[in-house]
Amino acid sequence: MSATVIDGKAIAQLIQAEIKLRVDELTERNIVPGLKVILIGDNPASVSYVRAKEKAAAKVGIKSEVINLPAQVEALQVEKLIDSINEDSSVHGVLLQLPIPEHLNADALLERISPYKDVDGLHPENMGLLCDGRPRFVPCTPLGIKELLDRSGIELNGKHVVVLGRSRLVGRPLSILLSLKGIDATVTICHSRTKDLLAYTRAADILVAAMGSPKFVTAEMIKPASVVVDVGVNRIGDKLVGDVDFEHAIEIAAAITPVPGGVGALTVSMLLFNTALAAERYSDGTS
Ligand code: NAP
Repeated sequence: MSATVIDGKAIAQLIQAEIKLRVDELTERNIVPGLKVILIGDNPASVSYVRAKEKAAAKVGIKSEVINLPAQVEALQVEKLIDSINEDSSVHGVLLQLPIPEHLNADALLERISPYKDVDGLHPENMGLLCDGRPRFVPCTPLGIKELLDRSGIELNGKHVVVLGRSRLVGRPLSILLSLKGIDATVTICHSRTKDLLAYTRAADILVAAMGSPKFVTAEMIKPASVVVDVGVNRIGDKLVGDVDFEHAIEIAAAITPVPGGVGALTVSMLLFNTALAAERYSDGTS
């Protein structure tokens, strides 16, 4: 029997409609949620991600602006820009599109962003709060994965989630989020040094692949009737493929996310979610 294919686009549309209502409510009170996106250089993938963010923001009524700096920009100029955005009360969220050119220090720049406007959730203070079980902003892809599972009726409580990948952006925060009290999954995090990976993947009730290795997860690695979440976005020629061998995995799993049309659609929505949240906190005086 074939797995249910989780429709990320449909779930994202639903979430965006909910966000629009929140944005409308804020706008009625003369607070238009504002988002600034800093894009350094012209990496084609980053340019297309930023465009998608801009388009989605406009749809829900968030005022967004992309500031495109040249690839050779000096650190001082980026720092001054971040400082001015931090002080601008009409901007509630800011994100630095990663990756950035090598001569710049991503850690230092992320840390310079106000933790109250850090809608990407990558500031160390926000990572710390997540670890502490008091999340302020959860990084967008992990938050999107949780929404995707919740809204697909997939129970996390007591389930064994195996996460392949331990990046700052996806694997690590996801593993922390899903193991929080109240969400209550049992999480195993695997990485490139994990020995006998198959033993872990075959034991997963929910397997999350976030490695950036096209079709790495084969049908043999999947426990029958489990849930498979494919975070990978790999370009092969003019095609996008995930980290999971979708064609064969669909015959083994109970539910699976496609690429494209799965997790990716949620990531952008959660950026809007976090921006609306930042603006609500600003309006309540709690940020
Ligand atoms: P990353 O920073 O390159 O991290 C990849 C992780 O995978 C690392 O922790 C690495 O282990 C681990 N890994 C690599 N090969 C492995 C193997 N053979 N077995 C087990 N673990 C292995 O990547 P990322 O930023 O997390 O992104 C991962 C993928 O998700 C990429 O395809 C990216 O494009 C995609 N992505 C999608 C979205 C979305 O919205 N859909 C958002 C973000 C990222 P080590 O730590 O040991 O090196």
